[in-house]
Amino acid sequence: MEVKPRAELVNYTDEPERNVAAAARLCHSPKGGSQLREEMSSREVERLVRKVIEMGHTSTLEHTYFYFHIICSRVTSHQLVRQRIGVSYSQRSQRYVSEDDFDYIIPPTIARNEQAKKLYKEKMDSLQETYRNLLKEEIPPEDARFILPAVKTNLMVSYNARSLRHFFELRCCNRSQWEIRTIARQMLSLVQKKAPVLFENAGAPCVSRGYCPEDDFSCGRIDELNSREGDN
Ligand SMILES: Cc1cc2nc3c(=O)[nH]c(=O)nc-3n(C[C@H](O)[C@H](O)[C@H](O)COP(=O)(O)OP(=O)(O)OC[C@H]3O[C@@H](n4cnc5c(N)ncnc54)[C@H](O)[C@@H]3O)c2cc1C
Repeated sequence: MEVKPRAELVNYTDEPERNVAAAARLCHSPKGGSQLREEMSSREVERLVRKVIEMGHTSTLEHTYFYFHIICSRVTSHQLVRQRIGVSYSQRSQRYVSEDDFDYIIPPTIARNEQAKKLYKEKMDSLQETYRNLLKEEIPPEDARFILPAVKTNLMVSYNARSLRHFFELRCCNRSQWEIRTIARQMLSLVQKKAPVLFENAGAPCVSRGYCPEDDFSCGRIDELNSREGDN
């Protein structure tokens, strides 16, 4: 069956911005972390979060975590797990969970072409049938899965806020692959509701850093952002 890629925010550090601000304040205070966390006004929290991001004192962002449930293809989970620092993954196993009724993602280029979509679905049905027949031959799932395409997978992924901002820089960019970009943008929108200051300027480098590292491959969004700034 066809499914859409999506991200759900499962949990996050209580008062995520306050944690960051307390860590920042602690570096210059004789007081302890929990006292600082309790004492600070919301205004002070906002000011400090903006300040540490602006000055690059971003190790303080590592004290706040966000946990996501991600549904995507195994094409995209492969890209997702390339990020190594400040992030933890758990992924549904194809050894222990049978794929005898797998779901899959249809890329938009295929979805909008009737003939391509028909070919794609036929191939998925045929692979599904072969997989089931291999299981009937008592081939274990860990070997039967070798014939599987980029079927849907489920992951639990937890990032600290520093690593999550890095993820958004890499994957919210128009130059990144469409499925991981779709998920990254959903994740950004979810965390912006919970920690608006921490993620107010998060996203592709044109948003977070004010420049585009893509050179000749740039999508041109940086020019649009710069011209908007010039209008102000
Ligand atoms: C648009 C796009 C296209 C891509 N295309 C390809 C591709 O064709 N082929 C491919 O293999 N990958 C590709 N990648 C993956 C990319 O190379 C990175 O592996 C991935 O984005 C994770 O980024 P990262 O290493 O910065 O993250 P993390 O692993 O989380 O690392 C975070 C930061 O820590 C530092 N760091 C981490 N490990 C080390 C280390 N060993 N030594 C020194 N510093 C370290 C670096 O500063 C790094 O930026 C692509 C990524 C994007 C966004």
